Amino acid sequence: MTTEHQTSKNDILFARAQQSTPGGVNSPVRAFRSVGGTPRFITKAEGPYIWDADGKRYIDYVGSWGPAILGHAHPQVIKAVQDAAASGLSFGAPTEAEIDIAEEICRLVPSIEQVRLVSSGTEATMSALRLARGATGRDKIVKFEGCYHGHADSLLVKAGSGLLTFGNPTSAGVPEDFVKHTVVLDYNNVAQLEDAFESMGDTIACVIVEAVAGNMNLIRGTPEFLRRMRELCTEYGAILIFDEVMSGFRVGLGGAQALYGITPDLTCLGKVIGGGMPVAAFGGRADLMHNMAPIGPVYQAGTLSGNPVAVAAGMTTLKLVQEPGFYEKLTAQADKLVIGLTKAAQEAGVAFCADSVGGMFGMYFSAHIPSSYGQMMAGDKARFNSFFHGMLEEGVYFAPAMFEAGFVSATHDDAVIGETVEAARRVFARIA
Ligand code: PMP
Repeated sequence: MTTEHQTSKNDILFARAQQSTPGGVNSPVRAFRSVGGTPRFITKAEGPYIWDADGKRYIDYVGSWGPAILGHAHPQVIKAVQDAAASGLSFGAPTEAEIDIAEEICRLVPSIEQVRLVSSGTEATMSALRLARGATGRDKIVKFEGCYHGHADSLLVKAGSGLLTFGNPTSAGVPEDFVKHTVVLDYNNVAQLEDAFESMGDTIACVIVEAVAGNMNLIRGTPEFLRRMRELCTEYGAILIFDEVMSGFRVGLGGAQALYGITPDLTCLGKVIGGGMPVAAFGGRADLMHNMAPIGPVYQAGTLSGNPVAVAAGMTTLKLVQEPGFYEKLTAQADKLVIGLTKAAQEAGVAFCADSVGGMFGMYFSAHIPSSYGQMMAGDKARFNSFFHGMLEEGVYFAPAMFEAGFVSATHDDAVIGETVEAARRVFARIA
C-alpha cells in the first residue's frame, strides 16, 4: 500500500524515532497505523500547506487537528508569540493576559460565566467531570459511543454488551473499578437516553457530549437528541457538559451550543482557543465554577496553566476569528470542498458522501451520511485507505484514519480547494 521511496527522509526519521519513542510518535494517530505506510515528518507549515522532511508540500486538512483555523503560521499570531516570549516564558503567577482571554471567552460563549484555563483538552474534560461530581455529590457519568473526550481514565470506555450496561475500559491500565461509574450510550438515540434517566437519573452527575461529534468522523448530533438531553439533565439535576474542544470556535463563533441554541451547564474548550499552542479551558455557570479550588472544594491546578506565550497565541486567534464574515467564508470553503469531492466521486462511480459544519468536514465511503458510531464504522475502510494514500501522493494531506473529521482554514481559498478536488478526481478514478 505504501508509495514511499525507500530512501525517503521520512522513512529514516521514522526508523530513528521508533528507537527512542514508542511507535515513533507522541500521539498514536500520527503513526499512520490505521492507513499503513510512513508518517510524514513535518518541517514547516504556512497557510494551508505543510512540508515534510523530503521537502514535499501538501495541502493540509488536518490543521494540527483543529487549532490552525487561521492557516498555519499566521503572521499576527507568530508576532504575538514572539513578543510574549521576549518577556519571559512562564511565571507561575497571574497575568493580565489571562484576564483578557477569560473575559473574551465569557463574552463569546454566553453559557460560560467563569472559566479556568488548562493546557490540554484532556485536562479540561477531566476537570469538568470532577467538578460535576463534586457539585452534585453523585458518581455516575454518561457518555456516548464514538465521542472522544481525551484520555482520562473514566472516559476511556466503550459500551458494554446490552442496553445501559456499564462500560468496559478501552485501554489497558484502566481498572474496571475506575469505569464502573461510566455509562456509555448510543449517540443520537433519544429513547435510550430517556431509559437511562428513568432508571438511574437521580445518580447521574453529568452527561458529556460532543454536540457535533468529530472523533467518529463528523457526525451531527440531532437537534431532538440534544434538546432532550438538556431537558433530562435539568429535570434530574444532572450537569450537562458540552465538550467543545473541537467544535468550539470551529463550527461557528459561539460553538455548537450557539448553532443548536442549547445552553450547557459546563463547556470544555481547546484547540482553536490556543491557536496552535497548549491552551484549553473549562467553564460555565458561575455557581458551579465557584466549587473550584481555591474558593471551593474541587481541586485542580497546573504549573503551565495560562502560560503567557500560549495565551498570546490564543488571544490573537480569538480576535482574528471575529473579523466580519470569517465564519461565513470558512463555512463556504468547507461546503465547496464537500460538494467538489462528492461530485468527483460520483463521476468515478465511487460510493462516497461528505458533510460539513462550519470549518469541520467528514468524508464517508458509504452511500449515506452516518448518524451513529455503528453506521460510521460500516464505511469502506480499505477504500478510504486507498484514497488517503492516493491523495497523499498527489500532495493532499487528510487525517490518516477514517474515524477523524477534517478541517479547513481561512487560507483554504478557491484555488486550494480546486486543486484538491482535481486531485481527488484523479484518485477516485484510480480506486473506482
Ligand atoms: N475532547 C475532544 C472533543 C477532542 O476532540 C479532543 C482531542 N481531539 C480532546 C477532548 C482531548 O484534547 P487533547 O488532545 O488536547 O487532550
